Amino acid sequence: MTPPPYDAIILGAGGAGLMCAATAGQAGKRVLVIDHADAPGKKILISGGGRCNFTNVHTVADRFISANPHFAKSALGRYRPADFIALVDRYGIAWHEKTLGQLFCDGSARQIVEMLMAECEKGGVDFAFSTAIGEIGHTDGLFRVAGAAARALVIATGGPSIPKMGATGIAYDLARRFGLKVVEPRPALVPLTLGGDDILFRDLSGVSAEVEARTAKAKFQEAALFTHRGLSGPAILQVSSYWRHGTPVEINFAPDAPADWLVQIKRDKPKATLKGAVSMRLPDRLSTALVERLSGNEANWGLMPLGDVKDALLRQIEGRLSRWIFQPNGTEGYAKAEVTAGGISTADLSQRTLEAAKVPGLYAIGEAVDVTGWLGGYNFQWAWASGVAAGQAIASRD
Ligand SMILES: Cc1cc2nc3c(=O)[nH]c(=O)nc-3n(C[C@H](O)[C@H](O)[C@H](O)COP(=O)(O)OP(=O)(O)OC[C@H]3O[C@@H](n4cnc5c(N)ncnc54)[C@H](O)[C@@H]3O)c2cc1C
Repeated sequence: MTPPPYDAIILGAGGAGLMCAATAGQAGKRVLVIDHADAPGKKILISGGGRCNFTNVHTVADRFISANPHFAKSALGRYRPADFIALVDRYGIAWHEKTLGQLFCDGSARQIVEMLMAECEKGGVDFAFSTAIGEIGHTDGLFRVAGAAARALVIATGGPSIPKMGATGIAYDLARRFGLKVVEPRPALVPLTLGGDDILFRDLSGVSAEVEARTAKAKFQEAALFTHRGLSGPAILQVSSYWRHGTPVEINFAPDAPADWLVQIKRDKPKATLKGAVSMRLPDRLSTALVERLSGNEANWGLMPLGDVKDALLRQIEGRLSRWIFQPNGTEGYAKAEVTAGGISTADLSQRTLEAAKVPGLYAIGEAVDVTGWLGGYNFQWAWASGVAAGQAIASRD
C-alpha cells in the first residue's frame, strides 16, 4: 500500500528548512525534510566562528539586497529578532551582543541546531538524510520526490557558497524546472582580489585598519584586512555584496579624522615626517606603503619634515587617503563567499507566504531566494523569518 502523502516536503535541512518544518509540524501538518547531507544545519555549525551570529537586533529590510527591496519586509516584520531571541531563551541558550547588534551564542552553534531539531521533534517532523533529490514529479496537485509525495514542496536548499560544505545551486535548477525566474547568482560577503598596480598591496597581508569602504551604492565603516590575494575584513565583505566587476572600491583610510588633520599635525609638530603623521592614524606598514605610493619617484618625500610641506599639498594627500581607489579584478568566489546574492526571483513569489504564484503549493525560502542580508546575523534572521512565513502558510492550507 502506498503511504499517504505528506502535507509538505521540505528540501534542505538548513536554518530556513528546519524553521519551516518546525512551524508547519507544530501546527499539526505532516512534514518530511530531505537533505543530501548526513546531518542537519551544517552551515549553522560553522557560522559565526562556531558561535553562530543568529540574529541582528537592528534588522530592517534596507539591510538586505534584492531586486525588490520591499520583498523581505512582510516576513521580517512578522517574525522579528525578538521572536528568535525568545525561542533561544526558552531553551536556556546563553548569548551575548558582540558588536553592531550582532547576537552570538556564548557556547556553541551546535546549541542552535539542537534547538531547531527539538522544535522539529515537537512537530513530529520526519527526516531523510543522505538522500538525493533526483527528479521531481508534479501531477494531480502532488509533488513527488525521492519516493515520497506531498501537497506542498519547499525549496530550502540555500545557495552554492562553500561547496565543500555540501552547498549546491540545485535551488535554481528546481526553480527553472517549475518556470520560476532566477536572478543571476553571484558570490557575496566575499574577499575581493587585487591585480595590476594594486598587486603591491599584497605585501601588506595580515595588516588591518578601520576604514570606510564604498562602492557605487553602499558604504560601510568597519575593519578592512589586506590578504595575500587582496582585500577582506568586515568592511570589504559588506561592500563585496554590492560590488560589480569593473567598478572601483573606494577606501577612506582616515574615516574619523577631522578636516585638515595633516595640516593640524604640521602646526603642532612641524618636525614630524609625513610617514610619522599618517602612522598616527594607521598601522606602520600600511602608512609606509600608502605614503610610498603617494610620493611616486620622490623616494624621500615621506621623510621630509611636515614643516617643509605646503598646506595645499597636505590637503591633497588627505584627499587621496580619504578616497583611495582600488580596482578589484574579482572575488575569491563561492569557495570563500559567506552567502550567494541573487537567486530565485522574488517577482514570482508571494512576499507574505513565499509561495510561487504560478505553481500553487511550491514555496522557496532562505538563501535560495534573491534576498541577501548584510554581514552580522541578518542572513539567519531572513532564514528564520522566511521559514516561519512559509511554515504558517502551509499550516493554513486545507
Ligand atoms: C562560513 C559561514 C559563516 C556564516 N556565518 C553566518 C552568521 O554568523 N550569521 C548569519 O546570519 N549568517 C551566516 N552565514 C550565512 C548563513 O549560514 C546562510 O545564509 C544560511 O545558513 C542560509 O540558510 P538556508 O537554510 O537558506 O540554507 P543552508 O543553510 O545552506 O541549507 C541548505 C540545505 O540544503 C541542503 N542541500 C543543498 N543542496 C542540496 C542538494 N542538491 N540535495 C539535497 N540537499 C541539498 C544542504 O545540505 C543544506 O542542509 C554564514 C555562512 C558561511 C558559509
